[in-house]
Formats: sequence, structure tokens, C-alpha cells
Amino acid sequence: MTAPTAEESELRADLVRIMRKMAASGLNKGASGNASVRLGEDMLITPSGLAPDLMDEQSIVRVAADGTTEPGAPRPSSEWAMHWRILRQRRDIDAVVHCHSRYATILACCHRPIEPVHYMVSVTGGAEVPVAPYQIFGTPELADAVVATVDGHLACLLANHGQIALGRSLDHAFAIAEEVEEQAAVYYGAQLLGSPHVLDENQMNDIFRRFEDYGQKR
Ligand code: 13P
Ligand code: ZN
Repeated sequence: MTAPTAEESELRADLVRIMRKMAASGLNKGASGNASVRLGEDMLITPSGLAPDLMDEQSIVRVAADGTTEPGAPRPSSEWAMHWRILRQRRDIDAVVHCHSRYATILACCHRPIEPVHYMVSVTGGAEVPVAPYQIFGTPELADAVVATVDGHLACLLANHGQIALGRSLDHAFAIAEEVEEQAAVYYGAQLLGSPHVLDENQMNDIFRRFEDYGQKR
């Protein structure tokens, strides 16, 4: 491996940090899940089958624009094609995280989108979080299904599998994944209690407008 630039080293360290953060926050367990970040036309991605506490900067894999890795590099995540295709198609985001967080996965196992019983579903860029059809993990078919389902939004569920979240940075993608998990838990609980009120299209459009002028504007 040629010596990484300061930017590449920083992003490699950031990937290890975000995987540890996903483990510490309970979004992931063991070697489940993966994360990637854009580096110019290339992608940096976590290695396959390695728990976050065993990862270091050298475990991170650089995937070139043509989809190849450097000789002798660790094996990239089995989901590299899913990350790679999203990063190539979505120039508005630079990072992707995938996890098997519990409530998102429960809904994904039932092929149930997260409907907007709470307005915060809107932070994913859509009025609900859709479910990509089931495909075997680590396949081009799963990559296709996820690219089509996430469309222009920031998250979707993966049937019988988990969730994926996109962001401008790894921390942003993490925050989206955390919100998806929270919304999945709220939706699950509301369904258990019975007959939750789902916000309608007009109400969600009002929320999107409200968010245009929310928070610190400087
Ligand atoms: P990797 O360890 O190969 O990234 O796979 C984990 C996973 O979540 C597969 O969907
Ligand atoms: Zn997975």
C-alpha cells in the first residue's frame, strides 16, 4: 500500500471510530454492519467480518473507481457494491452506514415501512422509511434493490436484514441511522398499543416546510 495522504489517514481513522460508535450505541453487534466514505473518485470501506474493536486504520480497504482493491489489501465488506453504487450515484452525500439495529430489523423482517407516526421520520428525506425487497446479503441484487429503494432519500430498511443510512459525513450518516432506529422503536411501540394515528401527506409537507427554517441559521 502506498503511504496514505493525511486526508486518507483521517478518513480511515474516522471509519474505525464510527464502527466503534455504532457498537457502543447498540446499533450493531459483533461484526455486523459496515461503513464507507468517499475519497475523491474512490471509496474507503470497512473490512469484512471484523468486529470494530479489532479494526485499525490498516484494516480499512480502498476501492478504486473501477471497483478494484490494491493487491494485499484486506477483503472489503461483503456489501462493498451496495456502498459503492450509492456513493457513485448520490453526489449529494459522502458517507454510508449499514447496521442491524434491533427495531429497524424487526420491522424489516415484517416488510413493514416506518410510517410517520412521529414527524421526525422526515429527517430521512421522505414521509416514510421504505423497505428494499429481500435479497441475499453481499449480492449485486441487494445493491440494486437498495439503490432503487433509497432513491433520493437518506435511509431505507433492508427486508429480513437491517437498515442503511446516508449522510454528508460519517457522523451525519450515523445520526440518520440512530434516528431511523428511534423511529422504528416508536412505530413498533405505537403499533403494539394499537391504531396509531399516522400523519398524512399534508401534515408531513408542513413538517418539511417547517424544517426549512429550524435550528441555528448563521
Ligand atoms: P461485512 O462484515 O462483510 O461488512 O458484512 C456484515 C453485514 O452486515 C452484511 O450485510
Ligand atoms: Zn448486514
